[in-house]
Amino acid sequence: MAVLVTGGAGYIGSHMVYALADAGEDVVVLDNLTTGFWWAIAPQAKLVEGDIGDEALVGQLAKDHKFDAIIHFAGSIVVPESVADPLSYYLNNTVKTRSLIAAAVKAGIPRFVFSSTAAVYGNPERVPVEENAVLAPISPYGSSKLMSEWMLRDSHAAYGLQYVALRYFNVAGADPKGRTGQSTPRATHLIKVACQTVLGEREQMDIFGNDYDTPDGTCLRDYIHVSDLAQAHLDALKHLRHGGASGAYNCGYGQGYSVLDIVRAVEKAAGKPVNARMAPRRAGDPAAIVAASAKIKQEMGWTPRHQDIDRIVESALAWEDYLRQRNEAA
Ligand code: UDP
Repeated sequence: MAVLVTGGAGYIGSHMVYALADAGEDVVVLDNLTTGFWWAIAPQAKLVEGDIGDEALVGQLAKDHKFDAIIHFAGSIVVPESVADPLSYYLNNTVKTRSLIAAAVKAGIPRFVFSSTAAVYGNPERVPVEENAVLAPISPYGSSKLMSEWMLRDSHAAYGLQYVALRYFNVAGADPKGRTGQSTPRATHLIKVACQTVLGEREQMDIFGNDYDTPDGTCLRDYIHVSDLAQAHLDALKHLRHGGASGAYNCGYGQGYSVLDIVRAVEKAAGKPVNARMAPRRAGDPAAIVAASAKIKQEMGWTPRHQDIDRIVESALAWEDYLRQRNEAA
């Protein structure tokens, strides 16, 4: 038995592959390497370079490896890009996920763990937001992921596919052992951008909007360490293997930090100022989004271990510095 990890060469996927390998699981990675890196994959895992939308390929892999689960990360994740080019998001995130689910059902792969997102809630009426809140995405990215959740829900009802959709809040940080991290050079995520700025990789960064209805006017987010997120997937796998309920679960700590809090945490970790300027709001950004995390804790026993925002930022900065030195040496 093996686990198929799509997008295993990407940021979260590569942490997951290490977590699975550390737990003694056999792992096959399916990744087209458009945004991921072969060198980010744990050496114990097998890489198959290919597309998640290729049903014949997934069918063949299922015959070769007898997967008991798919953990599906592959997809596009930049909210503003999804606003500018929605159809590519619906293709990568929705249409291709449909093919992957179809291949899983056809091959009889019983379990599916899916990378979903807090963006399915849009601008929630209340924070912390619970899983049963209104689902009203405000970006094509969020819609593209929500449609995949619905396909899983309906495939569970129709074909008995067991699934967990993990709704990620803001994933950040890097492997504490320094084996992988967020390596996309032009990643747009706040902690990455702030670390690149403080290290001189970028001249300046923008703070997108300081007129939101939040304590300091900048957006509030729930930043979760990528290793705690990988653990949530291991817990979800265990949950499904023990016959646990299918459904959607938030993955966040329930603690909101503003954009300015994060900039200050990066300044503290680096011991120098971040060159940041105020800029207009960015399209598709909700003001505040923080997870209610009781469901995953109660039903799966998920226990976060890396909540400290200073440690999260330090691990991100250490990885960014490693990338910088590696680039300089090359
Ligand atoms: N943000 C910012 N400057 C940047 C990148 C992000 O001010 O260079 C803000 C963004 O507007 C949002 C928050 O930081 O309010 C988190 O954005 P990110 O892209 O990291 O994650 P998202 O919440 O969009 O998934």
